[in-house]
Amino acid sequence: MLDFNFQNETKIIFGKNSFDDLSKEISKWGRKVLLVYGGNSIKKNGIYDKVVAQLDKNQLIFEEISGVKPNPRLDLVLEGIDKARKSDIDFILAVGGGSVIDTAKAIAMGAKCNKDIWSCFSGEVFENEVLPLGTILTIPAAGSESSTTTVITNQDKGLKRAFSTEELRPKFAILNPETTFTLPQKQTIAGAIDIMAHVFERYFTNTENVDLTDRLCEGLLKILIKNIPIVLEEPENYHARAEIMWAGTLAHNGLLGTGREEDWGSHMIAHEISAQYDITHGFTLSIIFPAWMKYVYKTNTNRFAQFANRVWNIEIDLDNLDRTAMEGIFETEKFFKQIGAPTRLRDLNIHDEHLENMSHKCTMNGSVGNFIKLHQGDVNKIFKLAL
Ligand code: NAP
Ligand code: FE
Repeated sequence: MLDFNFQNETKIIFGKNSFDDLSKEISKWGRKVLLVYGGNSIKKNGIYDKVVAQLDKNQLIFEEISGVKPNPRLDLVLEGIDKARKSDIDFILAVGGGSVIDTAKAIAMGAKCNKDIWSCFSGEVFENEVLPLGTILTIPAAGSESSTTTVITNQDKGLKRAFSTEELRPKFAILNPETTFTLPQKQTIAGAIDIMAHVFERYFTNTENVDLTDRLCEGLLKILIKNIPIVLEEPENYHARAEIMWAGTLAHNGLLGTGREEDWGSHMIAHEISAQYDITHGFTLSIIFPAWMKYVYKTNTNRFAQFANRVWNIEIDLDNLDRTAMEGIFETEKFFKQIGAPTRLRDLNIHDEHLENMSHKCTMNGSVGNFIKLHQGDVNKIFKLAL
């Protein structure tokens, strides 16, 4: 196990009555709130009215930035920064999923500094003050509700890039599984795959002696594999929704990566598909992960065989570990298909015309991934395996 520091200051407020604490939590930070949300879903399902009632009841003043789109864009972030500055905002409240929360985080970064914030997404250091933010999560997926990361798309440059700093960790995350009852099937599936992918990015490591976090990862994956089909059959099954929602936060709050090197190559590769074709994040991962696994498993066949055995209950063939490893990869791909996710680029009508360019963009600042370092040629081969 590697040395590590672990601190996650996001207060998790979980359950059916979790909205009741909203104003109390915000009031710790100020009275002027910027409410950030996406399209119409929170108005249709009544969450917006509940939030506004809470803010009004406690005389909190609020401004709004709405219309955040999946694969959130820099132009709306800049609009939000302008509004936050002009209105002298104290606190940002994100109500939605990863796209809304990531937009809120990028606004929080820009509100107190004059820097072009995109420069940070291109690798420059960011050392400015960040506005505090809190979240009400409406889709378990990105884990952004307690992560240090924001992922933004610069449409002019055709780039989707992540930026992380501890200061971006939300102060609180309100998680009420009932808010997820209205999710369209497609979003439930894509969100669940993103959660599994966040576990994979940590599980596939070459760090040795990480039994505790291995078991945590495996347990979390098993809970997802059990509960995803349940919520697809019964969207209002509170307990299954609750298991998935809590799994989504735990998958990405930093705990599962303690003491081990993480990978993140697949996310970097998948971001290129979203940047080029504006595809839902989870579906870029259900396509890239099986291809990545097939490309890299020989680097550490034992780890892939362990995954096959412990997650998919495949008996280990000591005479042919490669076979066990491949069976685990096929089970993963089969599961993605069974729940209705695409597993090949062609499922989304994507062919090979932009793959060279996407591989170039993915590696223009150096190799990606740690399990093995992937260069442009490797990324291109992974895209081809995913065709
Ligand atoms: P999302 O893009 O925030 O939302 C997807 C869709 O779900 C939206 O159309 C939204 O509609 C709808 N929706 C959300 N909650 C709903 C509800 N309760 N009922 C009905 N519809 C609902 O989804 P996401 O998967 O959470 O976020 C994806 C983004 O997060 C990607 O850009 C990805 O790269 C990023 N990401 C970030 C991190 C991180 O640590 N920061 C990690 C992984 C991924 P409305 O717009 O109408 O609300
Ligand atoms: Fe993700």
